[in-house]
Amino acid sequence: MPFAEITGHEQSIALLQAAWRHGRLAHAYLFYGETSIGKLMTAVKLAQALNCEQPVQTDAQDSCGRCRSCLQIAARTHPDYFVIEPDREAATPQIKIEQVREIEQHFVYRPLLGERKICLIDDADRLTIGAANALLKTLEEPPGDSLFILVTSRLHALPITIRSRCQALRFTTPARTQVEAALILKRELPPADARFLAVFADGRIGAALTMTVADVRTRQQECLALVKPESLMSSATILSTAESLAKTDRGEETLAWLARWIRDLVIILVEGDHDQILHLDQLPDLRRYAQRADTDALLTLLTDIERTQQQATRHLNVQMALETTFLRLREALGLIPAGAVT
Ligand SMILES: [Zn+2]
Repeated sequence: MPFAEITGHEQSIALLQAAWRHGRLAHAYLFYGETSIGKLMTAVKLAQALNCEQPVQTDAQDSCGRCRSCLQIAARTHPDYFVIEPDREAATPQIKIEQVREIEQHFVYRPLLGERKICLIDDADRLTIGAANALLKTLEEPPGDSLFILVTSRLHALPITIRSRCQALRFTTPARTQVEAALILKRELPPADARFLAVFADGRIGAALTMTVADVRTRQQECLALVKPESLMSSATILSTAESLAKTDRGEETLAWLARWIRDLVIILVEGDHDQILHLDQLPDLRRYAQRADTDALLTLLTDIERTQQQATRHLNVQMALETTFLRLREALGLIPAGAVT
């Protein structure tokens, strides 16, 4: 499929096309940036473009998306195209040395069908030390007609030796409006749902395209029910809610939803950009909460939730974090006087 189907990343694509047009494509690229924003998709489309048998325009540096080569690359069955990735089901996903060795053997020979052999390494930060060293040797003396594309969302975790052998290309998160437009176009979502998913996914187009609207809306309703005054008034209710959420394994997710809701409220309180509000359909309710809410207390709570979220999962006492959040939230919302016991 052609590059035009990618949401955002116009600059990265233009850079790659210009390099190709001038015969200056590097032997190894490193695509890095946030998860789920289109790095891998761009890599696949570059592979298709480079080996396309029927380019729409011969000088367009783009693919047709329909020819045998394009289809084979999409299906990962093209004889000159290889993908290495970690076993994501594993407890510790890794790219092993055997996987790199296997590629090396393929790259000894000239391309079978296309112009060049292409190896795509997804989540390249998962290379074991052995695998990274093996790959390094190949990157130091790349076969003439080869292209390696490494993709990572954890640049710091990739050995500096590997990074220094690649031309790095930073992928920025697409704008929310771009994600929204893509959702309307590709998933034919109603504008309100498209906007909601786009804000919720925070620019992660890959996630936004695969989320189920009904699921996300259900979570939203659950979150809204939790912050209702009647849910927060009684300490006993708070304790039992926190306990049952922690038991169902949804505690961390709930914390994230609470943080988003609090952030919306803060945006209203500080008269920030409404465009950033997730629960825009709740604006009248949010304004009502804002009338009695304490901005400072909410901001401190928000910072503390974010700090909690950054803790390693195994150290996090979700039940306690939820209890504390609810108890502090009801004070910050002015539902009960600070320090009062109910
Ligand atoms: Zn094609």
